Amino acid sequence: MAKKAKLLPRVSMPMQDPHVRRGNFNEVALGYTLEQAQAEARRCLQCKNPTCQAGCPVEVDCKAFIHEVAEGRLDEAYKVIKATNSLPAVCGRVCPQEKQCEARCKLNPTGQPVAIGRLERFVADSYYAVNPCDAVTGGDDCKLLREDLKVACVGSGPSSLTAAGYLAALGVSVTVFEALHEVGGVLTYGIPEFRLPKSIVHTEVEFLKRMGVVFKTNWVVGKTVSVQDFFDQGYKAVFIGVGAGLPKFLNIPGESLLGVYSANEYLTRVNLMRGYKFPEVDTPVAAGRQVTVLGGGNVSMDAARTALRLGAEKVTIVYRRTKEEMPARLEELEHALEEGVCLENLVAPVAFNGDEKGHLRSLTVQRMELGEPDASGRRKPVPVDGAFFDIPTDLAILGIGTGPNQVLLRETPELTLNKWGYIQADPETGETDIPMVFAGGDIVTGAATVVLAMGAGRKSAREIARRLGLL
Ligand SMILES: Cc1cc2nc3c(=O)[nH]c(=O)nc-3n(C[C@H](O)[C@H](O)[C@H](O)COP(=O)(O)OP(=O)(O)OC[C@H]3O[C@@H](n4cnc5c(N)ncnc54)[C@H](O)[C@@H]3O)c2cc1C
Ligand code: SF4
Repeated sequence: MAKKAKLLPRVSMPMQDPHVRRGNFNEVALGYTLEQAQAEARRCLQCKNPTCQAGCPVEVDCKAFIHEVAEGRLDEAYKVIKATNSLPAVCGRVCPQEKQCEARCKLNPTGQPVAIGRLERFVADSYYAVNPCDAVTGGDDCKLLREDLKVACVGSGPSSLTAAGYLAALGVSVTVFEALHEVGGVLTYGIPEFRLPKSIVHTEVEFLKRMGVVFKTNWVVGKTVSVQDFFDQGYKAVFIGVGAGLPKFLNIPGESLLGVYSANEYLTRVNLMRGYKFPEVDTPVAAGRQVTVLGGGNVSMDAARTALRLGAEKVTIVYRRTKEEMPARLEELEHALEEGVCLENLVAPVAFNGDEKGHLRSLTVQRMELGEPDASGRRKPVPVDGAFFDIPTDLAILGIGTGPNQVLLRETPELTLNKWGYIQADPETGETDIPMVFAGGDIVTGAATVVLAMGAGRKSAREIARRLGLL
């Protein structure tokens, strides 16, 4: 298998046609068929010392699950993945595999690493028979939940969902407290339907419910209940996974004009509040004819592609560095370009300009050129004197970064924060300065990735289980 495999090209993923998909919110990547998945899995060399697993923050045994796919044993493949990853259908869709497991694949020198992420997605989507507890514990049954061992998870993003799944599998009674009315964190209100269908997130959450995890929505921890209240109510440990959802602004003239949104607000209005259904719903979202999106990461790609789907005639992404330096996943950038999103690289925003009614009409930008390398080694963009121009714009979306969610931090002054305002936690266990209070995900690292947040949740859950005498 191995020698031939090197010569075979990667099995490509069926996709919705770009001209069709820019007009709908249906998922863009359609997923492998069984035959395609098996063909891709057979490209794996089944290396004696595989390098792929070490690239995965939640340590999925890639070699083993790929082998099961090649043999057509999908339930076994699912068990292998689920043993360390509580959200495989999510990870298979949104993880930057090209920088993680696939970056370490030994087929890399051929330019065609095994499509580990696509196979993970295929397995999770195909799976239906295994009991969720079997898959996590390897045992025959769900552990009976112990009422004397209660743990609270704050926030319901991937870090908390992972911590909850790990602990529930060991018999801990876990309650997840979420400030919003739907669970899932950024998976629900940030990443759009065309990349991560909400039904996928619901299915993973249903799995956790079947394991006994209780979800309480509309609970703002810090306001509705405090961290100390949890201990007073008999919780043995608290995991904080409240994320980094506070948008950053540019502080340039005109930023308060009507039509300037943070990407966070824009995507939340669309994904969570279905703003495009106004007046059927109470929270409208501006459609925009000429839309400008600022920033070059995944958030900006999602905002730009959402604007296209809401009917924009032209969507331009403005980024102050080069295309090659854009931090978005390559696949997302390519998909955006295929759908007709335009790029303005090496330009920086200077001012938003409005009309007499306070509506945004254009964005003034300044051309940049590459200067000396900065501390990160990248050549720093420097303004070109006098090179200003206007981009006609009636909707601008800022995807230039986020900061830590504040409510819980303000109300819990005992937590030590680092110089950027994120929670300082032990890198090995996630424990904070408050004993038995752990933290992980974006609220510790700053905006990062789903799988890193999951890795943090898993690490803290393991430590909590150890302290509770379960390991
Ligand atoms: C638009 C967008 C696209 C992205 N695309 C990708 C991608 O393709 N791949 C990838 O790997 N990563 C991507 N990311 C990043 C990824 O989603 C995050 O790194 C990840 O979700 C962080 O998980 P978390 O568990 O730390 O918290 P979050 O997902 O941020 O969830 C935190 C939750 O805590 C809740 N909360 C906050 N305060 C309180 C409180 N006081 N009480 C109760 N609940 C509270 C919030 O409402 C939220 O539901 C994207 C992010 C965005 C915004
Ligand atoms: S490194 Fe690549 S080829 Fe080797 S086992 Fe992992 S996925 Fe297969």
